[in-house]
Amino acid sequence: MDLTFSAEDLAFRDEVRTWLRANVPAEPLPSLETETGFAAHRQWEKTLHAAGFSVVSWPVEFGGRDVSLVQWLLFEEEYYAAGAPGRVGQNGIFLLAPTLFEHGTAEQRERFLPRMASGEDVWAQAWSEPEAGSDLAGIRSRARRVPGGWRLSGQKTWSSRAAFADWAFGLFRSDPDAERHRGLTYFLFPLDAAGVTVRPIGRIDGKPAFAEIFLNDVFVPDSDVLGEVGEGWRVAMSTTGSERGLSLRSPGRFLAAAQRLVESWNGAAQLQDRVVDAWIGASAYRLATFETVTKVLAGSPVGPESSMNKVFWSELDIALHEAAMDLLGPDAELTAGSPAAPDGGAWPDGYLFALAGPIYAGTNEIQRNVIAERVLGLPREPR
Ligand SMILES: Cc1cc2nc3c(=O)[nH]c(=O)nc-3n(C[C@H](O)[C@H](O)[C@H](O)COP(=O)(O)OP(=O)(O)OC[C@H]3O[C@@H](n4cnc5c(N)ncnc54)[C@H](O)[C@@H]3O)c2cc1C
Repeated sequence: MDLTFSAEDLAFRDEVRTWLRANVPAEPLPSLETETGFAAHRQWEKTLHAAGFSVVSWPVEFGGRDVSLVQWLLFEEEYYAAGAPGRVGQNGIFLLAPTLFEHGTAEQRERFLPRMASGEDVWAQAWSEPEAGSDLAGIRSRARRVPGGWRLSGQKTWSSRAAFADWAFGLFRSDPDAERHRGLTYFLFPLDAAGVTVRPIGRIDGKPAFAEIFLNDVFVPDSDVLGEVGEGWRVAMSTTGSERGLSLRSPGRFLAAAQRLVESWNGAAQLQDRVVDAWIGASAYRLATFETVTKVLAGSPVGPESSMNKVFWSELDIALHEAAMDLLGPDAELTAGSPAAPDGGAWPDGYLFALAGPIYAGTNEIQRNVIAERVLGLPREPR
């Protein structure tokens, strides 16, 4: 693992730190899972973009700064340490964009990436269906060939922020006769297209952005197919690697929360070990991420080891937040807006979000199957 930072890395980190210090809103923005919060966070995406900090690792032509993976990790550490707003554009920026870079056409990259970088288009992930979450290859929403494109029909569910987003990316069964993994195609579609109905569904915190999406004969032109027709599974697998591995939950988030936990510690002896464990866990995750980056820079793919990251960060997030809830007592339950809320009410929101960690991005039971079969080489689960 390479932990040496060049003078250029450190200069970039200083630039980011200085900018964030001057620009992060003094008061936290309203939750990005609400209509007003979503709009405020979209505006923040535009501010980041105008300063060149929206997608630092992307090529300059698409709105990035072309910085190295190491500098990107340093950026994320500074971002979370500064308490900067959550990224409403994250599904597009961290999940779809790597897939567009790998499988998209030049025309698609030009059409979608700059608008994603600037916050003009916010994307939702439309993968899960009522009968197909863990068993993603079991999806039933279908795509029917028509002149110039396709007609999409079916139902997607559990789509984060789809109630307010502009576009969605999802898998559809384009060949009902092909073997399960073979007959899928990856489509991009606008959420205001004729035939699309978006219906909010309740989340544990009651915020209204989570949604199910109904598609009734929605026309999508050929130019909005991502990758080859029938190759949707392969294309989707490049997205899941990004989701579970490096990008979705950068170590900066856990380091910043662990640091807040340490600062909240009041000397309570019975909680000392849990506070220390949370801090060690966040630091270990940081080192593991730098190890992965070193591997990637040496030319290796992230691989199925990303499933180990996913189990680790999701369990760490819960342990860290439970330690904070126990440490701070009833005050920890005060939400943003309550004058006595510790850390501006960050803990209850963080705790409720942490509880979803073992479910989204592929449940931890499924990740353990992947680790057993593809990392440890144990016999395959009977299917
Ligand atoms: C907060 C949140 C945000 C989400 N955001 C999105 C989003 O933006 N877009 C999107 O498409 N989806 C999203 N999801 C959906 C998420 O990806 C699915 O909930 C997840 O993949 C599990 O699928 P499921 O809910 O259908 O559960 P099921 O697949 O029905 O699983 C139920 C339980 O059975 C277990 N199980 C199933 N199969 C096996 C097996 N073979 N071996 C062992 N255990 C098994 C699972 O681990 C789980 O514990 C989100 C979910 C949450 C909670």
